[in-house]
Amino acid sequence: MTHLRRLGNSISVRIQPDEDGFTGRECPNPECEGYFKIEFGTGLKGENMPCHCPYCGHTASHDHFWTKEQVEYAQSVALRQLTDAFQKDLKKLEFDHKPRGPLGIGFSLKVKPGHLPPIRYYREKRLETEVVCSNCTLRYAVYGVFAFCPDCGLHNSLQILSKNLELVIKMLDMAMTTEVDLATRLIENALEDCVSAFDGFGREICRIHANKLVDPIRAEKVSFQNLEGAQRSLSELFNIDLTAGLAGDEWTIAVQGFQKRHLLAHKMGVVDEEYIRKTGDKRAVVGRKVTIGADEVRGLVRILDQLAQSLFGDFARFP
Ligand SMILES: [Zn+2]
Ligand SMILES: [Zn+2]
Repeated sequence: MTHLRRLGNSISVRIQPDEDGFTGRECPNPECEGYFKIEFGTGLKGENMPCHCPYCGHTASHDHFWTKEQVEYAQSVALRQLTDAFQKDLKKLEFDHKPRGPLGIGFSLKVKPGHLPPIRYYREKRLETEVVCSNCTLRYAVYGVFAFCPDCGLHNSLQILSKNLELVIKMLDMAMTTEVDLATRLIENALEDCVSAFDGFGREICRIHANKLVDPIRAEKVSFQNLEGAQRSLSELFNIDLTAGLAGDEWTIAVQGFQKRHLLAHKMGVVDEEYIRKTGDKRAVVGRKVTIGADEVRGLVRILDQLAQSLFGDFARFP
């Protein structure tokens, strides 16, 4: 039984990364079973580091995160190695005793090479967002956009917001080098993108902390397209002051920017009474188009970045 014995009491099967260097992972939490990928060798260094599910935050050691396909593949490879070793060992036992004399009976054992069990190959799935964690440099990929870093557990909401705000700045730079009509449209779109990016960030950060509340559904409904509404909700639900991280007239500037975006999105950019009442904008005239300059949007980007950082910190401290 030398072949079988050589296999020992454990067979190790190598799971190869895909063509992008990623290895698939599956959350062991039965309510999640979320699929994601990571590049081993990036991120935190050390033996037996735990893995965090990017979707539900479930934490366990890496060997709990094999996908069903990887397990089936490994089992099939092991079974094939076992069967192969068993057949080879059996082959060694072959014998052939020829019959002797007129009444002799012969004995023989002939082992024909049988079929080996098939290997269950698999392919890693394509995912939607690739992230390099800004905290620990792990390279990972997820469905959707937002996620916890599988290595250090940091949520990527702030990182995704920064990436989107960088794109806004690029649009504004582009507006500097183009004709007036297109430049105006680019600046308006940049403002819209600013607000959407912040809304996405704000909703996500509320969602991941909603389970700490008695009424989680309310937290999931907070909209950040209206800053003053968001400020009220955050104060009621989480006792967080959205304006706390800002200085001087930054909050007023931010509210005005968001109200301008509201006019552009819903009123064709024409100023109404509500806008004047909410912003106190002295330069705006009811019935005329609101004006928005590239520098104004740049200023808003800077304020939103600050707002987001202080909000992220406030939520991290929330009990
Ligand atoms: Zn999970
Ligand atoms: Zn990380």
